[in-house]
Amino acid sequence: MATERTLSIIKPDAVAKNVIGDIYSRFEKAGLQIVGAKMLHLSKEQAEGFYAEHAERGFFADLVSFMTSGPVMVQVLEGEGAIAKNRELMGATNPKEAAPGTIRADFASSIDANAAHGSDAPESAAREISYFFKEEELCPRG
Ligand code: UDP
Repeated sequence: MATERTLSIIKPDAVAKNVIGDIYSRFEKAGLQIVGAKMLHLSKEQAEGFYAEHAERGFFADLVSFMTSGPVMVQVLEGEGAIAKNRELMGATNPKEAAPGTIRADFASSIDANAAHGSDAPESAAREISYFFKEEELCPRG
């Protein structure tokens, strides 16, 4: 499997629960390296731009409101099969359907406040990483 990069966001609900370290530990134990990270309180424009593909969905306004409700932790994860590995660690979008032991099963309270984001494909990963990071802000460790 190829070395990949993916964008991860620890959403406002999980930051408020003080579980950034717990989630980082899951990434590291799974063999993913954090090669860039920043804490941000997203503006409405930043959240709308990030989730632009969902602009027509009924939940869009609530999603933007939730994503701007408090700080988020944004990171780039690097490793073999990083995109799928991160999605596996996160679990299903709806925490009620998320496998036991996943981030969403452990920390998410609803499909809206679902603790984490992870890119779902190489194209979205590239777009989402460049949405938040310049290449020179990333520190690959080889
Ligand atoms: N979402 C929501 N209500 C829904 C479906 C999705 O609030 O009925 C939110 C939720 O926060 C989800 C995000 O929109 O994480 C993006 O949805 P997607 O289907 O891309 O899920 P993900 O890739 O995050 O698992």
